[in-house]
Amino acid sequence: MFEVINLNAGYEFRDKFVHAVRNVSFKVEKNDFFGIAGESGCGKSTLVLAALRLLKKPGKIMSGKILVDGKDLLTLNDSEMKELRWKKIALVTQSSMNSLNPVIKIKDQMSDVLIKNHGYSKADAHELVQKNLELVGITADRMDSYPHQLSGGLRQRVVIAMALLMSPSVIFMDEPTTALDVVVQRSILQQIEELRKQKAFSAVFITHDISLLFEMATKIAIMYGGEFVEIGEAHSVYSNPMHPYTKGLLEALPSISKNLEKYKSIPGRPIDLSLNIAGCPFRERCSYAFEKCEVEKPELKFVNGRWTSCHLY
Ligand code: SF4
Repeated sequence: MFEVINLNAGYEFRDKFVHAVRNVSFKVEKNDFFGIAGESGCGKSTLVLAALRLLKKPGKIMSGKILVDGKDLLTLNDSEMKELRWKKIALVTQSSMNSLNPVIKIKDQMSDVLIKNHGYSKADAHELVQKNLELVGITADRMDSYPHQLSGGLRQRVVIAMALLMSPSVIFMDEPTTALDVVVQRSILQQIEELRKQKAFSAVFITHDISLLFEMATKIAIMYGGEFVEIGEAHSVYSNPMHPYTKGLLEALPSISKNLEKYKSIPGRPIDLSLNIAGCPFRERCSYAFEKCEVEKPELKFVNGRWTSCHLY
């Protein structure tokens, strides 16, 4: 349904190049909830923007393929791309306040998508907008509100309702609940899960909060240094993490029952993506590193039902 093959993308500056997405491949199938996790600065958001062909200058896609129902997005012209947006692929961004226009009423900015891109009449567009807002628990009397008149949670629901307008097959969600308090976060996540079942769309969910993904995702990819270092079924990655970075993320997870002294954080900082990385990108933070890790880059290999890139396997 949606497949990324060997995608390379980054940011070109006068004196340096930040290679933020390095040879990433993944496939999203019908009803998948595909989670992508990793620390801030590992390339997750760049991957989303590149995969949806939304990366703006100085961002650049260098190579790869992005297939939607077999069509490569990188070969489509603007009007072919416009045809696919909202109908096949949609995006829920990190901050609803930045996605919504502050001086246009909710109903008008949602209708705009339908009228300008897909030829709806104003009345039909308003009717569909109302239906979609009701789906996310927003009543018709809020349609005339401006974004600032809604709480952060309601604004995020508006953005989700907007992404659902044309019933796309795949919705990318880039940290959609990060700025919200935990109670609102939970209720929005539950709503996303209900909507996914009801409207049968697949989700690609990006977060630095790995515990969220283990609850919700069917498949999970762990990203480090612009690459996927482990990909597998969410429950099996959780119960048996293979890559030392995944193990580190799991050991740092807080739990009500765990003794506080048992928490371990991963030492050091994420690697600088403007560097030409020789050997394993995680080696300076890895307690399992050995000589080979210094000189040879581990490739993703399929081991024990899982893709992982580590010389230990
Ligand atoms: Fe650690 Fe080496 Fe595996 Fe990299 S390849 S994760 S440094 S053991």
